Amino acid sequence: MQLSKNFSLHELLRSQTATRNDITEQFDPDLEVIDNLRLLCEHILQPLRDSMRRAVFVNSGYRCARLNQAVGGSTKSQHLKGQAADIEVAHLSTEQLYQRIKNSTLPYDQLIQEFDQWVHVSFNPQGGRRQCLRAVRENGSVRYLGDD
Ligand SMILES: [Zn+2]
Repeated sequence: MQLSKNFSLHELLRSQTATRNDITEQFDPDLEVIDNLRLLCEHILQPLRDSMRRAVFVNSGYRCARLNQAVGGSTKSQHLKGQAADIEVAHLSTEQLYQRIKNSTLPYDQLIQEFDQWVHVSFNPQGGRRQCLRAVRENGSVRYLGDD
């Protein structure tokens, strides 16, 4: 199933951790999750791809509860609702991608530069906060620093 021109539902559900651990419900989300993923693609991922003319690689999109727990995600993670994706773009550093989205007019809810490894971006149909954060590891735990 395509969610937008260049993004398929498969890409937004894909997870090696879920496959390896036989977390089968990851690949059978309810309709509300699929709707949220479609909105995320329509409002954020597809316009981003179109403006850059480069492929956007989705590291992690939707996460069912068991998968989210397995990867140590927050219990309030927007990944659980299908409202967030962790993304990378070839030949663009994490910081460059982060700045590009931050300085765009995209209606994102939360944008997080995570550990110089990927960019977390979310879309909330209720309205975008356009909150910008940086996630850093400190003494084994994660700290979120404001970046407005
Ligand atoms: Zn994320």
